[in-house]
Amino acid sequence: MVIELYLLEKDLKSGRVLETGLKPSKIVGIGLNYMSHVKEAGLEPPDEPVIFLKPPSSLIGNGDVIIIPDDIGSVHYEVELAVVIGWRARKVSAQEAMSYVYGYGVFIDVTARDLQMACMKKGTAWALSKGFDTFAPISPIVKRDYVEDPHNLELKLWVNGELKQHGNTSDMIFKIPELIEYISRAMTLEPGDIIATGTPSGVGPIKPGDQLKATLSNLVELTVRVCGE
Ligand code: MG
Repeated sequence: MVIELYLLEKDLKSGRVLETGLKPSKIVGIGLNYMSHVKEAGLEPPDEPVIFLKPPSSLIGNGDVIIIPDDIGSVHYEVELAVVIGWRARKVSAQEAMSYVYGYGVFIDVTARDLQMACMKKGTAWALSKGFDTFAPISPIVKRDYVEDPHNLELKLWVNGELKQHGNTSDMIFKIPELIEYISRAMTLEPGDIIATGTPSGVGPIKPGDQLKATLSNLVELTVRVCGE
């Protein structure tokens, strides 16, 4: 199992995948950032970004394996746009926020849904349900220069070849500049840090033996499989 990962940079001109040496100090997740997912979860849209942390120890890369521990109930996929920070960002305004972005990738915010729901009922935090080892697969990262408009990218996720999620980043409730402003007001974003910007509708369960594929428009692709412990 690979749980240490250097983020990879895909050079679209040469098609090569290069190691950058960037390694996140944190992964900031955004909850309930697409109306379609808020509705399917039976919740109300938030007035301000809902943020949580996934530990860097949960990261895996393309071709790796999601390992589902025994007895944690249902585990869901959530396909998301990953924003990777390139320069230290502290108390950055929305106006200047995009200049701190290094690039973009596609991310699967793997979530132990039963554990999360139990936490929501009790009013406790989501860290456990979002933080298991291997619960943060990320694709190679495409540099921002190759991305014309990060707020108009298609997110797709297939399970065993069947398309389960198909959204567009134009539907994010809180856009990238607002998210960076909001997060960096509280915590310094370091180079390599990842913001997982929330999922559109269509989330669902995974089980050992499943193959997941996720894409971000025609820019990058992520394939992982699922195993039991
Ligand atoms: Mg999510």
